[in-house]
Amino acid sequence: MPDIAVVGAGIVGAASAFRLAEGGLEVLLLEKEPTYAQGSTGKSAAGVRVQFSEPLNVLLSYRSILEYREIPEAAYRPTGYLFLVPEGLAEAQEEALKVQKALGVPVEKLSLAEAQRRVPFREEGLAYATFGPMDGTIDPHGATAYYLREARRLGAEVRFSEAFLSARREGGLWRVETPKGRYEAPYLLLSTGAWTGEVGRRLGLEIPVFPVRRMVFATAPAPFPHAFPLTVDLGTGFYLRSEGPRLLFGRSNPEEPPGFREGVDWDWLGPTLEAGLARFPFLEGLSLDRKASWWGYYEMTPDHNPILGFVEEGLLVAAGFSGQGVQQAAMVGRLMAEEVVFGRARSLDIEPSASGASSRGGFLRSGASSDATPCCLGPAWGARR
Ligand SMILES: Cc1cc2nc3c(=O)[nH]c(=O)nc-3n(C[C@H](O)[C@H](O)[C@H](O)COP(=O)(O)OP(=O)(O)OC[C@H]3O[C@@H](n4cnc5c(N)ncnc54)[C@H](O)[C@@H]3O)c2cc1C
Repeated sequence: MPDIAVVGAGIVGAASAFRLAEGGLEVLLLEKEPTYAQGSTGKSAAGVRVQFSEPLNVLLSYRSILEYREIPEAAYRPTGYLFLVPEGLAEAQEEALKVQKALGVPVEKLSLAEAQRRVPFREEGLAYATFGPMDGTIDPHGATAYYLREARRLGAEVRFSEAFLSARREGGLWRVETPKGRYEAPYLLLSTGAWTGEVGRRLGLEIPVFPVRRMVFATAPAPFPHAFPLTVDLGTGFYLRSEGPRLLFGRSNPEEPPGFREGVDWDWLGPTLEAGLARFPFLEGLSLDRKASWWGYYEMTPDHNPILGFVEEGLLVAAGFSGQGVQQAAMVGRLMAEEVVFGRARSLDIEPSASGASSRGGFLRSGASSDATPCCLGPAWGARR
């Protein structure tokens, strides 16, 4: 019998499966698709950054980036994030900078002239820029593949094309049903990304995670003088970055309704370009590559922060990253394993993200892992099989 059933083989489920197996647990990983990273992980723009305003988000990303740096398959590239700060947000961004500096993560404040050396832009309405030299990109497929390989090496069983249908708690165990079989495990982890609200309802829970479609547009290859960092015009949310000889760009549509809507929304290209051209006039000379553009689901929560940890007896959730799960998954995997093995996450205080869930979704963290009774295998943490 497995100790834990993990549902979802995106980067979060894969990293969690690895760390749980490393902690000495028997892991069963269920994924509805025929292979890994077919959900949001494979659709992400692959950016990683420490430039957040919430301390927990800064640390989740920072420590994950430190881990990705050591994993060749993650193909970490420190190409940087450049934030162009409008006058109206100058104060708020100063506050974020203070948080980042206090946590000791690398971020620089740049004059607009300094920022121009990294990417050309119109300065109108801007106050200054910030640059994260450690920020950049990873390969989300490669990182997921690495975590799955390591999980399997430590004995995890990974079952593709096997969807989680339902589960009920009985006699201290989760009785899990799929179209192919029945499993029992004391612990259940939902790392089901944008599908977490739907999966939660099968357990009779309202978990406030919902899908919202997002687009990434790609230009045709063009002769740029150098690679552009991921540059965000904070006033409009328009971003661009180099990907080889192309540019990727996008902007969140605040009017996009929640739900599993499919396909690239070409109607959103106009408003995206309008914001982009106003700040980056050089975009006008580029052609769009429609076939290289894509869409995927953000897994949103009402306050845009993830739900992490125990939410019911024996039930953990790691979902709702609201567009930043790739860059936080490495650390989340460790935290989920600590929750189970030690009864509580130790490396970071995730209490806010779990208690936040109660006000957002009406379910309470029960402290359930065991109310500080470590899992069955307690001291096995770190033991490798
Ligand atoms: C366009 C776009 C751009 C993005 N850009 C970035 C970025 O630059 N940086 C960043 O950090 N993040 C970015 N993200 C967000 C990031 O992709 C997600 O936060 C992250 O991939 C979440 O990983 P996950 O493993 O939780 O979810 P997913 O990768 O979605 O994995 C969930 C898995 O659960 C499986 N599943 C669902 N239901 C069931 C079931 N019933 N049974 C079995 N399996 C099930 C799904 O098939 C899927 O494989 C972006 C997302 C999109 C769409």
